[in-house]
Amino acid sequence: MTDAIKIRVAVCGALGRMGSATCVAVKADVELELAAAIDTGFAGGAGALLGVGRDYADLEQALEEVDVDVVVDFTVPASVKANILICLEHRVAVVVGTTGLSAADLAEIDRVTEQQDTPVLVAPNFAMGAVLMMEFAKQAARYFKACEIVELHHDKKLDAPSGTSRLTRLRVEETWTELGIDKEVPIHSVRLPGLMAHQEVLFGGLGETLTIRHDSLSRDSFMPGVVLAVKRVRSLQGLVVGLENIL
Ligand code: NAP
Repeated sequence: MTDAIKIRVAVCGALGRMGSATCVAVKADVELELAAAIDTGFAGGAGALLGVGRDYADLEQALEEVDVDVVVDFTVPASVKANILICLEHRVAVVVGTTGLSAADLAEIDRVTEQQDTPVLVAPNFAMGAVLMMEFAKQAARYFKACEIVELHHDKKLDAPSGTSRLTRLRVEETWTELGIDKEVPIHSVRLPGLMAHQEVLFGGLGETLTIRHDSLSRDSFMPGVVLAVKRVRSLQGLVVGLENIL
């Protein structure tokens, strides 16, 4: 495969835990090229030291100076919406792993994706097991009318409840709504050193319980999903939420 047909990827949040793993995954894939790495922590060529080529402290400047097909955002809840809007202004497709976007944020992003005719994929969890956990929870919700979610993460995670637990709750409540059940799913958040990203979806019924559990034990678990999203995002229309939509 020649460089000419590689997908040119910029990683925003490149010095972070997820962003740095994404840079490694992009560089390792023959169909992708790491065109730029962006992080507020970049200054004075820190990127070159890390072997990431062109590095920027500012996303807007990167998009003005580098030809980019897809931006992957793994930054922080306070930055993610502004970053997505900058990408849309430049008509660059976005894969969003950063959590913490509200329903109102998503509605605004949806409007702008249409105006700019540029797709955005938001995936609160790129791990295959987590996608299956949500799918299984949706199925179980048809048979169990009581559900609670316990999500457990490392103590550096900034948002709570997690994006995965919020999407799981939505999927369960959507199923219940179809069945005419108007109930909310409580979410319990645990933040402890030593943890990575874990979730239990607990269903209770007559004399029985069902627990669906997923554990991400290393950040490698997210990378096949991130790479797939980068390859597929430009074929999507508008805003798409959830990795299951591209599998
Ligand atoms: P992290 O280690 O704190 O990394 C975030 C990086 O983004 C930091 O280097 C930060 O710099 C930088 N940053 C902040 N604002 C920026 C901006 N406007 N432009 C460029 N860079 C900026 O966080 P993480 O653990 O990698 O997690 C990142 C996000 O991904 C979180 O929301 C987390 O919940 C989510 N996540 C998603 C998945 C998934 O599968 N979707 C999996 C795991 C984690 P400073 O340190 O200077 O602020």
